[in-house]
Amino acid sequence: MAYDPNNIFARILRGEIPCKQVYEDDYALAFHDINPLAPTHVLVIPKGPYVNLDDLTATASPDFLGGFLKAIGETARQLGLSESGYRILANNGRDANQEVMHFHVHIFAGRPLGPMLKRAG
Ligand code: AMP
Repeated sequence: MAYDPNNIFARILRGEIPCKQVYEDDYALAFHDINPLAPTHVLVIPKGPYVNLDDLTATASPDFLGGFLKAIGETARQLGLSESGYRILANNGRDANQEVMHFHVHIFAGRPLGPMLKRAG
C-alpha cells in the first residue's frame, strides 16, 4: 500500500494538527491517544513515511530502526512506567484493524491489562 502523506499522523508530524506530546527526538514523536483505552494510552510514531511494520522494516535503515525502538523505551520511561509495566501493541493491516496508515506503536498502562487477546477462533 502506498503511503498517504495526508494521513492524520503525517499531519500531526507536520504540526498541522495539535497533539498532547509526551516525547520527541530525531526518530519519533509520542503523544496521547485521543480516545484512550487505558489510563495511559500513548502512541509512538516514526518520523518517516512508513505505512506499517512491514514497510518500516523493509525500507528504514538499521540506525533508524534502532533509534525508533529506543524512542519507544524512552517514552515509557518518561511516563514513569518502568516499574509498573506496560503493553506495547502495533496493528498492521486489515486483520489487525489498523485504522491510521502511518505506523504507530500503542503504549498501554496504568492498570492491570489482563490477557493479551480474547481467545477466539
Ligand atoms: P489503530 O487502530 O492501531 O490504527 O489505532 C489508531 C489510533 O489512533 C486509535 O487509538 C485512535 O484513537 C488514535 N487517533 C486517531 N486520531 C488521533 C489524533 N488526532 N490524535 C491522537 N490519537 C488519534
